[in-house]
Amino acid sequence: MKNLAQVVTIAGIDSSGGAGANADLKTFQNQMVYAASIITGLTAQNTYGVQAILPTSAHFIAEQFNSVFDDLDIKAAKTGALFDLATAQAVITGLEKNSVKNLVVDPVMVAKGGAKLLADEAINLIKDNLFPLAELITPNLTEAAVLLGQEIETDADMVEALHLLQAMGATNVLIKGGHGKGNIISDALLTKDGQVIYYKAPRIDTKRTHGTGDTLSAYIAAGLAKGKSLEVIMPTAKEFMNRAIGDGIKIGHGHGPLNHWV
Ligand code: PLP
Repeated sequence: MKNLAQVVTIAGIDSSGGAGANADLKTFQNQMVYAASIITGLTAQNTYGVQAILPTSAHFIAEQFNSVFDDLDIKAAKTGALFDLATAQAVITGLEKNSVKNLVVDPVMVAKGGAKLLADEAINLIKDNLFPLAELITPNLTEAAVLLGQEIETDADMVEALHLLQAMGATNVLIKGGHGKGNIISDALLTKDGQVIYYKAPRIDTKRTHGTGDTLSAYIAAGLAKGKSLEVIMPTAKEFMNRAIGDGIKIGHGHGPLNHWV
């Protein structure tokens, strides 16, 4: 019998299949880990944007945690969109109760189309109570700026932001540079040992980037579930992302999804 690493995504459903838990599950399949899902909410969504959101109740979040953790042997987890304060609090409670290890927190706030995926009132909660549970947090430049209340423009700003975010309690911090300007995208990882590692890649000229953050954090969670270190996972994660973005598939008429079959 085959022994697969087991992971759980704690994220929302995208009805058009490109982002959220849908992207996570395709990434996990690609990485050959077994994936459970704790669904934080439903979105009525397509490649044009998010039309409606229905967060999962706190009670039903707790039920899903119990069902998954009473049975499965979860080696890593990731969180995506948490929508509102009650849902975010229920997720934190579930993670604490089950001492979830190898947690990747993607602090999703706003979808590329502009829809709010995290209530403002939940931001302090995730900073104070979710980040300290995380092996890694993966904000993009915009999210990092909101979390810190300061702009990140220069390389020195980036290094300062990494340290300020790590001080909030996450073991490692990755700031994703995709929302920046210029033709080279620079992601920066601050490791637990205080090392800053940059990952640079040419910007791919495409609007098919729906679900990029979800896919990256899921890829990293899959690697952690297999027992790999972040330093080993990251270069292959970036290669995977570049192939998934670059080798486009034609789905929908707006900001289309990635190709997870690369
Ligand atoms: N919808 C859901 C449910 C998500 O979790 C996310 C991202 O985490 C998005 C939409 C946003 O996707 P994007 O900003 O890549 O378009």
